[in-house]
Amino acid sequence: MPAVQKIAPGRLYIGGQWVDALAGGTFPTINPATEETLTRAAEGRAEDIDRAAVAARKAFEEGPWAKLSGSDRGRILWKIGDLLEARVAEVAEIETLDSGKTITESLRVDVPMAADCFRYFAGWASKIEGETVPVRAPFFNYTLREPLGVVGQIIPWNFPILLAAWKVAPALAAGNTIVLKPAEQTPLSALRLAQIAEEAGLPPGVLNVVTGFGPTAGGALVDHPGVDKIAFTGSTSVGQEIMRRASGTLKRLTLELGGKSPNIVFADADLDAAVRGAGNAIFYNKGEVCTAGSRLFVEDALHDTFLDKLSAFTAKLQQGDPLDPKTRLGPQVSEAQMARVLSFVDKGKGEGARLVLGGERAPGKGYFVRPTIFDGVRNDMTIAREEIFGPVLSVLRFREIDEVVRLANDTPYGLAAAVWTKDIKKAHRAARLLRAGTVWINTYGLYDSAMPFGGYKMSGFGRELGHHGLMEYTQTKSVWVDLS
Ligand code: ADP
Repeated sequence: MPAVQKIAPGRLYIGGQWVDALAGGTFPTINPATEETLTRAAEGRAEDIDRAAVAARKAFEEGPWAKLSGSDRGRILWKIGDLLEARVAEVAEIETLDSGKTITESLRVDVPMAADCFRYFAGWASKIEGETVPVRAPFFNYTLREPLGVVGQIIPWNFPILLAAWKVAPALAAGNTIVLKPAEQTPLSALRLAQIAEEAGLPPGVLNVVTGFGPTAGGALVDHPGVDKIAFTGSTSVGQEIMRRASGTLKRLTLELGGKSPNIVFADADLDAAVRGAGNAIFYNKGEVCTAGSRLFVEDALHDTFLDKLSAFTAKLQQGDPLDPKTRLGPQVSEAQMARVLSFVDKGKGEGARLVLGGERAPGKGYFVRPTIFDGVRNDMTIAREEIFGPVLSVLRFREIDEVVRLANDTPYGLAAAVWTKDIKKAHRAARLLRAGTVWINTYGLYDSAMPFGGYKMSGFGRELGHHGLMEYTQTKSVWVDLS
């Protein structure tokens, strides 16, 4: 059976049941490589979010979930990881069809890392500890680390299964229950994850998946008084809107938002490694990466050589059918996203940047944008300031470290940054000075379930993954005992 047909089409997953949206609506999900409809997803609205939040509350307060020990929760999480791994080919196919990312990335990165994330947090489930606090006699005080309750999780379309895992796994490890709202462009892998979680023994109501649109389904989740926290990954403007709306019910928030990450190459860098690194930093997942190295700063002395080599590297990237294992660049996720990327290309040309490569849609079906490099970019141009979320690189020059750090930090964002140099002092000095939640030295785009990931400045707050990520799904209770 083709992978997509294994998903209950047009249904929501609420309280362990596959149900129609109450209003009965559905919407198509499109394969961006062919522009054809893959299947239809249910259009969840406020009343469906309400049903899901009620089911999640019931599971949190009354269901078997609340009574499970940490190690039993861990056992289920581990099983989800194992099942994801066992189904890697099928889940990867769904992901590639729905999002346009290459099958190689889905198979080798997204699905295995999602499985790893479940196993990583499976280990934590039995290790969430409180403290004993040395208060004045004759009292004894200790703390309990408790789950928050019902958490609403809103994820984007660029890494659907992986970012679902980043959010679902720690929330479950800490004992919360969940309403998950995948992006309308890529609803399928979250539904498949719900099936897998059920198969792994996750009790009904613990993970609910409501597909639907941002302002309606997502907005209702943010407003719902029965939801204790919103964990969101997406654009900064939607993050701001969520922050405003969440104040009504004073929800806890973690926001992982946009970026305009600087990738800095000093003249003493390992040239070939830096060229590959710079190319992958912007063209991986067709540039639809929140940490994309979209501003490439090259030291003056190296600039011309570097640009030649980077152009040669980029020209060799095979663009086309994302199901072909040789393909390196798939289509943008949607027609709207393609149009947005191309509008930034126009702005780049209009503001005087020099187009070195690409800059246009590829002919034929599918939302393919040619990998694009602009040289002669100034940091105040639109293409150096706004997040494009596509395969468009801005190249800028610099002379020395203080200048480049100042330029690199001159952005409202602070998600990630990288430096390439053989000089260990320069590398660590830059790592300290760069205002970003992640800094890579002589590499780019590394992640691990154990690392804390998140933003500085307008790239958001709160951390995902690692012990930090787990703590974001807990709250501390102080307990006093009179020992007199
Ligand atoms: P993009 O603009 O790149 O599509 P968004 O930030 O709009 O990214 O979307 C990320 C996620 O946020 C998606 O699941 C989307 O449905 C959801 N979303 C969009 N608008 C809102 C909103 N007003 N309230 C809650 N969720 C939203």
